[in-house]
Amino acid sequence: MPFSKLGLSPVILEGVKAMGYTDPTPIQLRAIPLVLAGTDVIGSAQTGTGKTAAFALPILSKLGKHQAAGPRALILEPTRELASQVETAIRDYARFTDLKVTVVYGGVGYGKQNDELRAGADVVAATPGRLLDHLEQGTLKLDKVEFLVLDEADRMLDMGFLPDVRRLVEKCPRARHSALFSATIPPAIETLIQWAMNKPETIEIGARRSPAETIKHVIYPVSDSQKTDLLLELLNRVNYNSVLVFCRTKHGADRIAALLKRNNHAVAVLHSNRTQKEREQALEGFREGKYEVLVATDIAARGLDIADVSHVVNYDVPQHPEDYIHRIGRTGRAEATGDAFTIMIAEDAPHVFAIERFISQKIPRVKLENFNYTYTALFEEGKPGAAAGGFPGKVRGGRVHGGYHFAPGGRRR
Ligand code: AMP
Repeated sequence: MPFSKLGLSPVILEGVKAMGYTDPTPIQLRAIPLVLAGTDVIGSAQTGTGKTAAFALPILSKLGKHQAAGPRALILEPTRELASQVETAIRDYARFTDLKVTVVYGGVGYGKQNDELRAGADVVAATPGRLLDHLEQGTLKLDKVEFLVLDEADRMLDMGFLPDVRRLVEKCPRARHSALFSATIPPAIETLIQWAMNKPETIEIGARRSPAETIKHVIYPVSDSQKTDLLLELLNRVNYNSVLVFCRTKHGADRIAALLKRNNHAVAVLHSNRTQKEREQALEGFREGKYEVLVATDIAARGLDIADVSHVVNYDVPQHPEDYIHRIGRTGRAEATGDAFTIMIAEDAPHVFAIERFISQKIPRVKLENFNYTYTALFEEGKPGAAAGGFPGKVRGGRVHGGYHFAPGGRRR
């Protein structure tokens, strides 16, 4: 079904067209009619499925024209980057309307936010803490809110934001429409749903746990002492445009970024100890291609939409299986293909098995050809310490030869 049949307003359809979207994604097909009909929606969909437009397009259609009275749509996000990304997308969708869209988050001054709120925004995308500050200071009221979106609710829970979220929801009128997006629905989110939503319908798109099918993923077992060498060698051999490298800790991310810089890669770093300005510059520079590598921690990178990430490298195996899906979801977004590499040392084996159970898939172990491995037991089936746990594996994707050998295509630009 084309966008034009979904009941969106003509100006919003123009915005969609200008974005170059031709067909709605599955979550858009299901969510748009529900939101337009005034039904509360719980959405569980993988990142990169087009969920921002799924809620934003019907909300913007229903908002119609600008009104100065105060925000009528509020979107809560766990991180500043996500709030800013969602605001940008909504501005784009609303470009042929006179609706005013703004973003509110911490770590920056109040001046610009105060000005924009005073000028009267129809849509506010925000992180919870700074929004509460504005409410306390009287720069903002939520008594005109008609649409409330709680995005990445499970991540807001992880980050300890739920009490703030509840306080904010209490400030919104009871007669409103709500939407909530969450990859998982733990009990605390279930309670929030019961309390904050009105007879919601749940939309689940695809299996919650499966990574996008457009991603080819492989594991590179290696000894701890050769992790950095393997990373450098991988980057040298892979024909990449832009790579996201995930590290477990902020300190680790800084260390790897410094190493890559010394090896002549154009690198930016993204983690929560960086200042807001540094975070913005890192993301902007990476999006524009000024940096070819972005080294990040999980919190900073969750849900970010960066077009054309050609490769994701897990320098450290994620400790939570769902983070694997989120990390590799940075590539292969909206059906573009991408590669995801995970570097694994022997002690990561339990985490790798947990990921494989979670995604119900074996991830092929691959040996980098002509790399001077000092320790090869990791590859030997059945031997103690074999990281693959005796897995020679079926290899999908046609890029892996003989189970373990892999010659990434060409050198990078
Ligand atoms: P999201 O899941 O909202 O972060 O969106 C992921 C990416 O898909 C973004 O770059 C969107 O611009 C893009 N996108 C969203 N909807 C569509 C669509 N119907 N057709 C093509 N691309 C889309």
